[in-house]
Amino acid sequence: MGEKIRMENGLLTVPDNPVIPFIEGDGTGPDIWRATKLVVDRAVEKAYRGRRKIEWKEIYAGEKAFNRLGQWLPQETLDTIGSHVVAIKGPLTTPVGMGFRSLNVSIRQMLDLYACIRPVRWVEGVPSPVVHPERVDMVVFRENTEDIYAGLEWEPGSKEALALREFVCEKTGHLLPMDAGIGIKPISKKATQRIMRKALEYALKHSRKVVTIVHKGNIMKYTEGSFMKWCYELAKSEFGDVVVTEADMISQGLNEIPEGRIKVNDRIADNMFQQVLTRSSEYEVLVMPNLNGDYFSDALSAQVGGLGMAPGANIGDRIAVFEATHGTAPKYADLDKANPGSLILSSAMMLEHMGWIEASGLIISSLEKTVKQKKVTYDLARQMEEAQELKTSQFAEVIVSNMK
Ligand code: NAP
Repeated sequence: MGEKIRMENGLLTVPDNPVIPFIEGDGTGPDIWRATKLVVDRAVEKAYRGRRKIEWKEIYAGEKAFNRLGQWLPQETLDTIGSHVVAIKGPLTTPVGMGFRSLNVSIRQMLDLYACIRPVRWVEGVPSPVVHPERVDMVVFRENTEDIYAGLEWEPGSKEALALREFVCEKTGHLLPMDAGIGIKPISKKATQRIMRKALEYALKHSRKVVTIVHKGNIMKYTEGSFMKWCYELAKSEFGDVVVTEADMISQGLNEIPEGRIKVNDRIADNMFQQVLTRSSEYEVLVMPNLNGDYFSDALSAQVGGLGMAPGANIGDRIAVFEATHGTAPKYADLDKANPGSLILSSAMMLEHMGWIEASGLIISSLEKTVKQKKVTYDLARQMEEAQELKTSQFAEVIVSNMK
């Protein structure tokens, strides 16, 4: 019988036989989930010689939930994730014409998974459009609950848009066009500081030396500008003994980051897009509001060869949900063809979160070895010379056989 993982006073307690809920996902989800489960189970078995074992518990969301239970996102699914603290999910179809914009956004908001964490690192051998993909080793911390993703947006000509137009005109004298759609971009101190706290805690735990706040505060002064200001404030008030700001380093004439310190700096988003390309090795942990985070995660993934191998997690104060970052790729559903790399690497993140670092490391090293051997799925095979194209299930089997 498996036991639940518990989170008490900020500490995760993981039994040797934890029950972990999983959502298989739609489209290619079942194929990539099967491959991931095989790899995780074997890595755990190998790393702990049978002393540890995950008991998987299927929960439903997306098409499978709708077909079985008549609901896209049953409350029971959210409750089960909430009571088990750690979960993993495949990609989900966004149903058209439903109240929520996306099931993924709903899961993040309903469980208050405020930090979207996306490590971006090149796996040797993966074709990349840049000359030095090996210089990219960054982790994006994207705020998940606010910004334009708060869902406060109204159609041109709607009564809400017209009422807002009137309000803005009355209060500011600014006349918005009659035919303008209107959105609201809330960014709060509380949500900003909790994502910055997560980023700094991560940097400390993983011995990262630079945390960069990415914002567009020169234009959006009271939203993105405040985001920057509140991040610096938190860095100084809660991490004052371990951080040094770039401005302080410049004023003190320091060229090197002082021993034991993390450098905190900020970059305006447009400049940062070129910096991550031209000065990749200077950046490590990036913290940013929701929309910037959306853009940067995909742009950085492209630098290291695309979304097929990009892992991700959505984490709150108590609950963590690990997920494939790509969509359901419906045209490849049930063909045993899609690349399971994103979900497999997300499962390695999950094991690391649980403290099972030996199993996590085993997954990463054997996946890297498999790609180096040029044994890959169609998406990578079509870009590599002399690659051997494998099915989803075969790719997983080779990863397992590479676990030494
Ligand atoms: P997508 O499913 O990510 O697929 C776009 C393309 O990306 C595919 O045609 C394929 O490219 C490539 N791709 C995606 N997953 C792959 C994999 N595992 N292995 C290899 N290549 C892969 O994006 P979409 O077609 O825009 O969205 C389809 C559905 O997924 C929508 O309902 C959308 O809402 C949903 N979605 C869900 C999530 C999530 O659950 N986190 C995220 C994004 C989208 P090629 O055709 O070039 O081979």
